[in-house]
Amino acid sequence: MPASPRSKVRRVAQRGHYDQETIHAILDAGWVAHVSFANPRGQPFVIPMLYARVGNSLYLHGSIASRLMKTVGAGIDTCVCMTLIDGLVLARSHFHHSMNYRSVVAFGKAVAVTDSAEKAQIFARFVDSLIPGRAEESRAADRNELNATALLRFTIEEASAKVRSGGPKDDPADKALPIWSGTVPISQRYASPIAAEDATPGVEIPASVLRLTTRNADL
Ligand SMILES: Cc1cc2nc3c(=O)[nH]c(=O)nc-3n(C[C@H](O)[C@H](O)[C@H](O)COP(=O)(O)OP(=O)(O)OC[C@H]3O[C@@H](n4cnc5c(N)ncnc54)[C@H](O)[C@@H]3O)c2cc1C
Repeated sequence: MPASPRSKVRRVAQRGHYDQETIHAILDAGWVAHVSFANPRGQPFVIPMLYARVGNSLYLHGSIASRLMKTVGAGIDTCVCMTLIDGLVLARSHFHHSMNYRSVVAFGKAVAVTDSAEKAQIFARFVDSLIPGRAEESRAADRNELNATALLRFTIEEASAKVRSGGPKDDPADKALPIWSGTVPISQRYASPIAAEDATPGVEIPASVLRLTTRNADL
């Protein structure tokens, strides 16, 4: 059940989910969230960002000069949304064209994390969120990098997920029309890695990157 009317999915309510397991699974399957907040004059903004989930918190990082880091880090009400696209849904009528998707809308507030050891640990988590195992293959943040990067811990107060799956919902009256209807699944795949132009000679592709090709089968 939603924690409050704020997070209750109204349209096609049966697609709404409120359990942490569903919400965390969707968050863990993606990389990018859209962070929404209003400045003190009430002007709304939506900014796309990477995130790293730890428990019921989403960490956000950025330049210490970033407006988002300063504004959201002051502890104002913030909303974070992320979406995964699973397929095109092609109906017989324009009206019933749609998409299959998994999305999350989360409400909460953020606090700035200033402890250097915790920041370093979470920055490693960001790297592993991009590609598991990469943090221990690469150099950790040094003191200057830690100081130049702000880190926010956004704690989810309440959240909803919405999931659409399956085929088009054509009107009965349209079912005899000679128009193809169905779904076109969408999947993301990793292509072959491309070494940097200034790649260190003799350094092989690391295990984390090689593992991505086997992960392709799961995407
Ligand atoms: C990829 C994609 C494309 C979509 N395209 C359209 C479109 O073109 N037109 C359209 O009307 N709708 C679209 N939707 C659905 C849209 O996100 C809303 O669910 C829808 O507008 C109905 O909102 P509502 O009136 O039920 O809820 P609102 O009153 O708008 O929201 C109430 C609460 O419900 C929850 N909620 C609503 N939507 C979502 C969601 N998607 N995921 C998680 N929680 C949610 C939130 O907690 C929100 O605060 C799309 C969704 C996705 C993921």
